Amino acid sequence: MEFNRQISNVEPSKSVTLLTKTKELQKIDPEILNLTGGEPDFPTPKAICDTVVAELAAGHTHYSDSRGDAQLRARIARKLQEENHAPFQPENILITPGAKYAVYLTIRALINPGDEAIWLTPGWVSYPSIVEASGGIPVAVHLKYEENYRITAEALEAAVSDKTKLLIINYPNNPTGQILTEADIQALTVFLRKHPNIYVLSDEIYEKIVYDQKQIISLASIPEFFDRVVIVNGFSKCSAMTGWRLGYLACNTAMYQVVLKLFQHSISCTSGFLQRGALTAMDCVEKTEQMRQAYEKRKNLLVKGIHEIPGVELLTPAGAFYAWVKFDTDMDSETLCNDLLDKAKIAGVPGIAYGEEDCVCIRFSFAASEDVLRTMLERLKTYQTTHNDL
Ligand code: PMP
Repeated sequence: MEFNRQISNVEPSKSVTLLTKTKELQKIDPEILNLTGGEPDFPTPKAICDTVVAELAAGHTHYSDSRGDAQLRARIARKLQEENHAPFQPENILITPGAKYAVYLTIRALINPGDEAIWLTPGWVSYPSIVEASGGIPVAVHLKYEENYRITAEALEAAVSDKTKLLIINYPNNPTGQILTEADIQALTVFLRKHPNIYVLSDEIYEKIVYDQKQIISLASIPEFFDRVVIVNGFSKCSAMTGWRLGYLACNTAMYQVVLKLFQHSISCTSGFLQRGALTAMDCVEKTEQMRQAYEKRKNLLVKGIHEIPGVELLTPAGAFYAWVKFDTDMDSETLCNDLLDKAKIAGVPGIAYGEEDCVCIRFSFAASEDVLRTMLERLKTYQTTHNDL
């Protein structure tokens, strides 16, 4: 049987595969520290769960509005207007099963076979794969470690062609933890002005996890670009709701019609009673802030700890919950990851999974307890001083 070629050619998700594999290995050897996952280690706040229990008890278990719960969409529109200065209306918002599906819908709605989508590396593995599965061509712009992964208009320009339909950005970034700086915005502005037909997918799923009082900015807040920015966001990371599969997108009215058709024919609607939980989550500001503070403490612990280990460097994360650690080694990142698992029982994701080819980096998630992170630092120090020829 010849299966769909576009999908058959796509690589399986390296991070999802590694997470599953490490969980299996941990069953055999519980000493393994699993720092592969992009999953908060906090429980979903109780108020959110209580809402859903009440919804179930009230029997709200049927199909719901395809676009999403009206109150939830109104609340998200208010949030986007007030917090992100992006004047979307409830009619521009679609609730999806996870932010990943919002990314999928955006790409499917824009890409015709042969169209190109620019993505930035290091970057989240699913962007290029979804573009490929949609018949499009992902074009990587390799940002550089030694430039702190800053965006330049020249690098974007070198990747553009008359087939470019979409630019995908993700800040705070998975895996580097970088956020958009003034200079990045400037570069994007120069580029987007020059190419008025290119849409931007702005994946803002880590937006509430930001450190050192840094301010985040959404490209959709810039009036001249607003109409062609699609915001993707969700509840997985900032509200510790990965298993709920709830996300959303916000886009202009014309695109919304296209996205909604695909959604109605593939998903129908996202679970109505779960969306009521998401509505509660929108107002659990304190819980989100408590989790952010815990991540910030862990981030500080890692910044200090890694600084004391020879042969490794950490790019200070400004947001998200990943430590992007650069190793001074002759091994490639995949071999190094296996070696670290073997000798130090630390599991991370190799930089190559995010398209980093210039230097050897590993992504360690710090959605893990401080105790786990301290053990990780001790083991990494021992590994670096005994095994890595330093
Ligand atoms: N975007 C990025 C950058 C992510 O890291 C993730 C989760 N790993 C997602 C989207 C998907 O989130 P969700 O669980 O809501 O599908």
